[in-house]
Amino acid sequence: MNENLSLGRIAGIHVGLNWSLLVVAALIAWSLATGILPSAAPGQASGAYWTAGILSAFVFLASLLAHELAHSVWAPCSISLQSRLAAARTRACRP
Ligand SMILES: [Zn+2]
Repeated sequence: MNENLSLGRIAGIHVGLNWSLLVVAALIAWSLATGILPSAAPGQASGAYWTAGILSAFVFLASLLAHELAHSVWAPCSISLQSRLAAARTRACRP
């Protein structure tokens, strides 16, 4: 996936954002605020549904970032035990 917006570096790993993730986050916020939350917990103010929807979309983006960072940090270690041991010997793999 190509990045459209560079967000800098985390632990030396370049982090970028593709515009399609913002569309996905907006759809999550919208579907929660206008459909799922009002039917699951009726009687609340519209702003409360939107706040919860937007916070949920941010949590989704943060968890996606954590997932992808974990790939970047641990992928060399998860190939196979033999590869992991070899990588550990060369310090390419974190313990
Ligand atoms: Zn994954």
